Amino acid sequence: MIPKSIRFRITIWYMLILTLTLSFFSILLYNNFSLRLQEGIKDLLFSKAEGISDSIDTYWETEKLDAIEEGAKAEVFSKINNANFIKIAQRWVKEKSSDPELLNIVVQIFDVNGNNIASSKNEPHLAVPDREIFNSIVLGGNYHLYNVNVNSPLGKPAMYRVLTKPVIESNKVAYIIQVAIPLNLINSVLNNLIAILFLLLPISVLLTGMAGAFLVKITLSPVDNMIKTIHQITAESLELRIDIPRTKDEIQRLAATFNDMLARLDESFSSQKQFIQDVSHEFKTPLTILKGELETTLRKIRSAQEYESVLYSSLEEINKISTITDNLLVLARLDNKEFRPEFKSLDLNLLIQTVVSDIRILAEPKNITVDFLTPEKIVLNADREQLRQLFLNLLDNAIKYTPDNGRVTINLHKDAGFAKVELSDTGIGIPETELPYIFNRFYRVDKSRSSTGFGLGLSIARSIAELHEGKIKVESQLGRGTTFSVLLPLAHS
Ligand code: ADP
Repeated sequence: MIPKSIRFRITIWYMLILTLTLSFFSILLYNNFSLRLQEGIKDLLFSKAEGISDSIDTYWETEKLDAIEEGAKAEVFSKINNANFIKIAQRWVKEKSSDPELLNIVVQIFDVNGNNIASSKNEPHLAVPDREIFNSIVLGGNYHLYNVNVNSPLGKPAMYRVLTKPVIESNKVAYIIQVAIPLNLINSVLNNLIAILFLLLPISVLLTGMAGAFLVKITLSPVDNMIKTIHQITAESLELRIDIPRTKDEIQRLAATFNDMLARLDESFSSQKQFIQDVSHEFKTPLTILKGELETTLRKIRSAQEYESVLYSSLEEINKISTITDNLLVLARLDNKEFRPEFKSLDLNLLIQTVVSDIRILAEPKNITVDFLTPEKIVLNADREQLRQLFLNLLDNAIKYTPDNGRVTINLHKDAGFAKVELSDTGIGIPETELPYIFNRFYRVDKSRSSTGFGLGLSIARSIAELHEGKIKVESQLGRGTTFSVLLPLAHS
């Protein structure tokens, strides 16, 4: 089975791309090299042919001068079909065939009729060029360059590059020179090159593949460590964190992001656990009381008055349970991401006015004065029912935590694009150390301070404010009073 690791995939791709690139460059190198060699051979053949005709000419000129001195006519000395020239050519070839410069080169000289006049070596297959080619050389004055396979006397076939070239004098072909170079040397150089390239290619691909695999392993080793730690993480061990590699790259960022996510999950898991514990606890107390009272009552027959009193106290406990359930439902609704508040334009003064008149029923028995100062009319885009709940919770607390004959003041004004509602009381205040926690669910500063609260009012108020893109701040002095400031964005006019 093919391993499905990134390391394997990267290495394979790496090797594949390297093979393709190296193959491409090898082909390019080979072609270029072979072309250069062939050009070199061509140049060599031409320069040799040139050299030979010059050299024969020198022989010829000396011969000519000698003959003229002896009284012969210069015109007789045409090279074409001249027996003297044939002798000179043969003499030249004889003398030069042992020349180291011509050792590997075959030189043949033909007359214009295609007869071989002189030949440096006995290479029968090089003897006469094809008739058609010969005609084109003699009549057209063209040179001809071609390869020919020759069976050498030793029996080993050899490839020759052959140049057959006319020597032209006074616009006439005087004779034909054929120069041939064996290609075995070049071929062995080229074959060597192929062998080297074929050997080097797999070795270098293998070596770089191994080096690549090693590098990928080093790069990805933090990922392996991360996987090991992640395997150990369950809902019960969310406090575990992965080691952040100091690589300053994507892997370091991935590890840091993963740890951040773990921290958030951990926090939300713990707060959920805490929440369930708190909810169970809140339900347990009234239910235990209810159960105890009903059990004791049922032990014997009671008078109608006794039953009535038990029913009343049971109703009280049931009311507590019902209030908690209502508050929890409100919170659940506010938490639900699908829940959309009904935003409508509303007059904030009017809304607070109604809440104040509702709350007076609670304030009057304690003789608490509730003052509402409304210097300016403020319009908001908000959910009426939710804002009512927000101010009701805050004012309910203000009355609850303010002793008899106290005062609650509500001040309303605009503040940098926000409506600012300040609710101050002359109550018992909140210790500074408790201030950061009072908005938490089920958080109560001191249970002895009030028997009626469940610690949900402020968290509901804050959720509502946040849903309206606003916020709640608190300032308090123990024994002197508390001020809650609610900031809500003003409606765009
Ligand atoms: P509760 O239902 O207990 O009032 P809240 O969430 O409304 O719960 O308030 C949390 C805690 O903050 C309360 O237990 C109370 O001690 C404190 N608190 C809230 N408002 C005031 C206030 N106006 N004055 C003094 N303490 C307050």
